[in-house]
Amino acid sequence: MPIITYQGNSYECSSDQTLLDGVNSQGANLPYGCRSGLCQGCLVKAVKGTPPASAQMGIKPTLKEKGYFLSCLCKPESDFEISRPDRRDEFSSATVTELEYLNQTVIKVVTSCPDTFSYKPGQFVNIIRLADGLARSYSLACIPSDGHLEFHIRLLADGKMSSWIADDLKCGDEVLLSEAMGDCCYRDAYADRPLLLAGTGTGLAPLYGILRDALSSGHRRQIRLLHGGLSSDDLYFDPVLSQLAAEHDNLSYIPCVLHGETPEGGLSGSIDTLIAAQLESERDWAAFLCGDSAIVSAMRRSCFSQGVDENSIHSDAFG
Ligand SMILES: Cc1cc2nc3c(=O)[nH]c(=O)nc-3n(C[C@H](O)[C@H](O)[C@H](O)COP(=O)(O)OP(=O)(O)OC[C@H]3O[C@@H](n4cnc5c(N)ncnc54)[C@H](O)[C@@H]3O)c2cc1C
Repeated sequence: MPIITYQGNSYECSSDQTLLDGVNSQGANLPYGCRSGLCQGCLVKAVKGTPPASAQMGIKPTLKEKGYFLSCLCKPESDFEISRPDRRDEFSSATVTELEYLNQTVIKVVTSCPDTFSYKPGQFVNIIRLADGLARSYSLACIPSDGHLEFHIRLLADGKMSSWIADDLKCGDEVLLSEAMGDCCYRDAYADRPLLLAGTGTGLAPLYGILRDALSSGHRRQIRLLHGGLSSDDLYFDPVLSQLAAEHDNLSYIPCVLHGETPEGGLSGSIDTLIAAQLESERDWAAFLCGDSAIVSAMRRSCFSQGVDENSIHSDAFG
């Protein structure tokens, strides 16, 4: 009977049961999810032994090459030594190169761009803490020609990841990154349509990437960017966006606040109401809406009620 070695213990596993069931029935406690090869929650690495191709279905080629397989699909015919996945095999490694407070609660994090990493501006990645695998999603506030990755991270007083970034992360530290995900991205087919970009707080991060992608792709119609905050203190990228608007005739930057003094060239009020008024000026808008989920839903309703085609409304809600 094949012997499976895991964390220094040996388990006999008959070839009529899966490796996952065989070792777990003897107390190994291997993690798993769907047990049918879909979720990859039972992914393990063969340290010794060659996994059958049938147990590597759907796994990334880079992981297959490193001996990864799904223990729920593997009926072992020979001995194996297995280990839990090594995070460095699963994710890309990046080095932190810059940390800068953009206001009291938003920090800009810049990292190197891993060699094999590809993305579309507006997508997001999971940033993973190397020590324990803590992971949170953050949007890419950059475009590939920057050569580095940029994130805008809002600090929450009791937030696990954001407090760690504020208190412990340093330039030179390594973080892990998942693949880029999401499709809240500029499309070349929008080049001759007016664009509305709207978001609150760090919802600006993906919008900044989308905006620069549109500008560098030669977008021909007008672009209106509305960045909202409770007060003008929250408009953390005001100088950068004002400068960009000064450089591009087809870009209007409209800072929006809920309370306090109205910023120069800006508006006061709830951003979902303010965007409805903006949309009255033209037809055929495409809209990108990002940030807090409740506000994204309200903005989506405003766009829809102003006749923006549902397929032309793209959003990233921050959970
Ligand atoms: C697709 C996507 C993209 C995202 N992009 C960004 C981004 O670019 N920048 C960014 O700052 N965040 C972004 N987020 C949010 C981010 O993933 C984390 O949820 C956030 O940083 C909080 O993580 P934390 O570990 O610090 O807090 P946690 O320890 O997870 O939470 C601490 C406390 O704060 C509350 N909380 C969690 N998230 C929020 C929130 N967003 N607003 C208010 N309260 C909250 C929780 O309910 C909890 O009580 C994105 C989320 C998604 C899903």
